[in-house]
Amino acid sequence: MTYVVTDQCIRCKYMDCVEVCPVDCFYEGENMLVINPSECIDCGVCEPECPAEAILPDTESGLEQWMELNAKYSAEWPNLTSKKETPPDADEFKGVENKFDNLFSPEPGEGD
Ligand code: SF4
Ligand code: SF4
Repeated sequence: MTYVVTDQCIRCKYMDCVEVCPVDCFYEGENMLVINPSECIDCGVCEPECPAEAILPDTESGLEQWMELNAKYSAEWPNLTSKKETPPDADEFKGVENKFDNLFSPEPGEGD
């Protein structure tokens, strides 16, 4: 079992999650983060920290797409272990639907 970042993170990227993760298993894309499923120790402390409610346990149903996305991009994107400045327009994208189809970027972020 692992925790999974869903598309609600896209263009939000508040990054409160990376501050609390004890094993530094978040990886940064251009406009969202993902969790490395083989590094996550399933502690659950990041889930309530996410203001966008983007983090879910993989025991929830319907997360297959996001489990694949987390596994794929955590192997490609750089590690991120400390919070950076939240994008100024982050709140505008909170709760927006169909973010993956319209806003996802496969490009890496800068990492630490
Ligand atoms: S706190 Fe939530 S929205 Fe922000 S970067 Fe982490 S997972 Fe994404
Ligand atoms: S569940 Fe724990 S180990 Fe996994 S990503 Fe969240 S804070 Fe890190």
